[in-house]
Amino acid sequence: MGYREMREKIDKSVFLLPVSKTKDYSMIMEAYFEGARCFGENRVQEVAAKFPAPDQRPDGMEVFLIGQLQRNKVRKAVALCDRIESVDSIALLQDIDRESARIGRRMPVLLEFNSSGEEQKSGFRTPEELLEALDVSLRLEAAYVIGIMTVGPLGFDETLNRTAFSKTRRLFERMKEKSSLISVLSMGMSADYEVAIEEGSNEVRIGSAIFGGRS
Ligand SMILES: *Cc1c(COP(=O)(O)O)cnc(C)c1O
Repeated sequence: MGYREMREKIDKSVFLLPVSKTKDYSMIMEAYFEGARCFGENRVQEVAAKFPAPDQRPDGMEVFLIGQLQRNKVRKAVALCDRIESVDSIALLQDIDRESARIGRRMPVLLEFNSSGEEQKSGFRTPEELLEALDVSLRLEAAYVIGIMTVGPLGFDETLNRTAFSKTRRLFERMKEKSSLISVLSMGMSADYEVAIEEGSNEVRIGSAIFGGRS
């Protein structure tokens, strides 16, 4: 349906992150001209191949990494991305901190929560582990946690999605008690963003509904 139409469809208070993975740069620029500034991508390699170097991007264009990040790609990720939404271990958080500090930049991150308990999903498995990572982050110099991200259960089942999202929302509230930097509750994709927003999401990550299906 395009970025503009999706932007008009959802509440103004919800941040819309268009997910441009597998889509070429001309489609990204189309959305940019419709007002999109930040783009979600899954793979560091794809960011490197598709986007101009950070200092050559159009005004205000930013890339948010939303896919699983391998520790050997952290150096590249912090050089090319403006936010990392998929931090799923303390070790990764510390690597991001070290590499960001090395190049003199601060890096906002989200902690990813495995809210559905599915084996194949990444993300912290328990609220306690995630809150421990938040505690660790408060002592870092360059990486800082601004919120939480989750991917709803595979296949759309309204009750299961609602349960996973409300669990994530409660954890978001607990994070806010620990840190005044917490503001982003990122949940909801093309199939389930409406339910996610009803459950309190303030950032939806939408790919196929904007750019069309992926093969
Ligand atoms: C691909 C992806 C999305 C967007 O998915 P759509 O179903 O195409 O909207 C959102 N979040 C993550 C983490 C993704 O990998």
